[in-house]
This record gives sequence, C-alpha cells and structure tokens, in this order.
Amino acid sequence: MTVRTRFAPSPTGYLHIGGVRTALFNWLFARKHGGSFILRIDDTDSERNVDEALEPILAGLKWLGIDWDEGPGVGGPHAPYFQSQRAAGHKLAVEKLLASGHAYRDFARPEEIDLERKEAQAAGRPYLYSRRFAAFSPDEAARWAAEGRQSVVRLKMPREGSLVILDAVRGRVEFAWEREQDHVIQRADGSCLYHLASVVDDHDFEISHVIRAEEHLSNTPRQAFIAISLGYSLPAYAHLPLVAEPGSRTKLSKRKLAQYLKNPDFRQVAEHGNRIAERTGLAPEADTFNPVIVDFYREVGYMPWAIDNYLALLGWSLDDKTEYFSREELIASFSLERINSSPASFDPKKLWAVQDHYMHGLGADEKLAIMLPFLLKAKLIADPPPATALATVRKVIEASGDRLKVAGDILSYADFFLVAEPEMDPLAVQQKLAKPGVGELLSRYAQVLSKVTPFEPGPLEEVTKAFVAEAGIKLGDVIHPVRVAVTGKTVGPGLYDCLAILGVHEALARIGRALAACG
Ligand code: GLU
Repeated sequence: MTVRTRFAPSPTGYLHIGGVRTALFNWLFARKHGGSFILRIDDTDSERNVDEALEPILAGLKWLGIDWDEGPGVGGPHAPYFQSQRAAGHKLAVEKLLASGHAYRDFARPEEIDLERKEAQAAGRPYLYSRRFAAFSPDEAARWAAEGRQSVVRLKMPREGSLVILDAVRGRVEFAWEREQDHVIQRADGSCLYHLASVVDDHDFEISHVIRAEEHLSNTPRQAFIAISLGYSLPAYAHLPLVAEPGSRTKLSKRKLAQYLKNPDFRQVAEHGNRIAERTGLAPEADTFNPVIVDFYREVGYMPWAIDNYLALLGWSLDDKTEYFSREELIASFSLERINSSPASFDPKKLWAVQDHYMHGLGADEKLAIMLPFLLKAKLIADPPPATALATVRKVIEASGDRLKVAGDILSYADFFLVAEPEMDPLAVQQKLAKPGVGELLSRYAQVLSKVTPFEPGPLEEVTKAFVAEAGIKLGDVIHPVRVAVTGKTVGPGLYDCLAILGVHEALARIGRALAACG
C-alpha cells in the first residue's frame, strides 16, 4: 500500500506545539514508508484572512524541516489543497448520500429541535431526533417547504449496533451507533459541514492513514459512516495522545499561559525568552509570544531539530532509553505501534535539556551562523557584518562554551564587546564597584594589566593570581569588580576571555572609565 498521510490545520494564525507533534508523526510515518505527506488547509469555517493566518503555520513547519509533498506552495495532483476550494465535490457527495438514503433533508426549525432535546433531558433519556420533519420523499419536502421552512441535510445514522475500528494507537475501539446524532452535513445555505468535507477530501487525496489528535476520536463514527455510505474504504486510524499541560493530563492550551507561568520551569523558559524578544524588538506580549506556540522557539533561537526530537518523544518512544535521534534515525525508528495512548505532558525543562544537547554538539562556525541573525535583529552588528565584528563574536562564542543555550543568548554574551561604551547595570555597579577601596584596587590592577604579554587568557590568569597573592586578597575581590568595569554586568564569558577579546587598550580604557563609579 502506498502510504499517504496528511496534516490538516485550520488557518488560526499560529502553530501550536500539539499541532506540530501531529504534523511530525504524520511526516515521520510517511517518510519511513517512502510515502507522501500532504498538507491540507481546513479553511471552510475561517473568518480570518486565510493567507495571513496560514503564514505562521507554513513558516513554522518549514523551519522545523517538516516538508510536505503536496499542498500549499507545492501543488500536487489533487489540487486544490484548500478545503474551501473543494466545495463542489463536497456538495456532490451530499447529493449521493441523499440519493442512497444515507442522508435526508430535514425541515425542523431550530426551536423544534431544541424542544425535543429539552424533553429528552427532562425525561433523563439520551436525545435522539424524532425525524418528524425529515423529508424522505419529494412530496414531503414540497409540503414542508410550502410552510416556509428551510432545510438542512442530516445523516441518517444507524440507531442499532456499533462501529468497530482498529486504531493503531488504541487498538479495538467500539462506538455504539445509538449514541450518534443525525449530524448535519449541509446547512440551509448549501454550505457543507466540516466532517463531510474532511472525509471527502481524505478520500480524494487517497489518504491511507489518518493520524490525528485524540480529540477527533469522537468524530470517527460519523466520519466512518459518511465514508462507508459513499462506498469509500476506511483509512487506517491512529489517534495520538493529548499533548497535555506541564504536570497534568489536560490539553495544553495557548489561552492558559497565565496559569502555566505559575509553574517554575515554564516561567523560567518564558522569562528567558521574553528577555531575548525584548532585545530583538519583538513585543513579549505579542499574541504569538507564548511557549505553547512554535514561533516562540524560533524567535528565541532554539534549534529546530531539538524541537522535533523533543516532540517525537511526546507520546512515542523507541525503547524507553534512547533520547536523541538524528533525522534519519528517527525516520527509521518511528512506528505507530510504539505510540502510547496516555496523555504526554509538555515539559519545557526537558525541551531545554534537549536543546542544550544539540547546542553542545555545534562547532563555533555553526553557532555563529545561527546566532548572527539575532545580533543583526538587535542591531548590535551592522549589516553586512564587518569582518572584525564577526571575529569578535566568534571569539565570544568560543569563550562562552556551553553557557550559550539558545541562539538568542548571544545577545547578552556579546553585546558589551560590540558597543563602544556598554551600559552599566546599576545593581552590579552598586554591589561590585561602589565599595570602599575598589577604585584603588582597580587602578593597581590596571597597572599590572598594562604589562601583560601576550594579552591572552593564560598569562592574564597567571598575572591576576600573582596580583591577589601579593595583595593578600581573594581572587573574587578582583574578578568581580573588573568584570563589571569592562562588561557592565555580572554574567558573560570568563573574565580572562573577556579581557583578551577586548584587548589591552580597550580593557584599560573601560577600567579607567569605571573608576568614576568606584568607591
Ligand atoms: N482541521 C482539523 C484540526 O485542526 C483536522 C482534523 C483531522 O485531522 O481530521 O483539528
């Protein structure tokens, strides 16, 4: 069988982490079996500007390397891939269902349906429509229409027996037909409802496996009924476990950010991202600036494969111990059988650890390539970047080692090298410089520094150690104030690296300027 999977997002304006996990599993399964991965846009109910609302979704998938074989931008043999452009086929399917008796025109008014529902509720029995206003013949239809009634088309769902599907994740799932309503598939204005459209499109696109979020499991009976009634063969189903909130079994939601920020790990990741976003000019309060959304990770400088690798383990595992996979390894290892059915809790701390792992594996030039855009965005470096600035940043990257966790971290590690007079953090000044005797100490240390050759980390360390030994003070007594004097703050690469990168002339000039703030 040719494997054909699809991801079918609605144009919502953002790419949710849970959505990416669905897309990723579809993509992995298609790639593993040499099949096709299709992107279908479910825009029938969209009230937004579709292009605009789709852009972040397409950009996010591209960034993550989840490429599609058919769909927007690439076309394909089953075009169009926008559901709203496929209305003619949907309407034809409705006509077929009417003709075969699997659907009927219903002339009930909404208040009449409501009344029946309330009566069932009051009697404590499940609501099933009486089909009182159903027109099973043209005569009946004419009679209802003559009363000025409008009609919708409903499925004539079975009321006995059950549907059994073999879900690749959940195994045998049985749905009793009596629990299903006569779902509406076409509105009075002739437009078709989503479930009808989805089944018809999946069939037209020859989708072999419907791999989707758990919340769609309950839609499966009506969709299967539509498919069977139209004579389609059913696709294989795999309903993926929920991507749940940190430490909970409830679905992760973009709207619950305030609640998630009470979780210390979540807050740490969000605040760290906010600091980077502030410097690149992205308003942290922007709707998309939320760790539940993929854009957040791109704007902060996570590596796309770190996200993919982390998300692959949200509900799937190879053997409970392998944590890191290359793209090829993941494709080769992936299988629907090893997807777990229980909710997978999104853990930003674990994602951070996976990011750390991949960042650690990058060489200085690779880091430079992903970090440079952040420096450009923050206007810390001119565009095109001068060779001297690039050399400085490369040295900062080398000196910072594993302290740079995401690409955006370069902003706070390199900024003071790239501006002539870095801003001084008032708290750092107060704590490290404005103390009695610090000015005098810095002046003496500057004297010593001026004679260090070569002006490199090794000799600088030796000289500094000799200096403190002679003065009878602790290393920290010199290191901390000097760091603040030359960088303006308390974090950054090691002090000897900072001094060496600045060079003797600049280091002394900065110490000289800092004396004014010293006690
Ligand atoms: N457009 C639906 C969603 O965003 C897709 C449902 C499906 O995969 O069948 O959830």
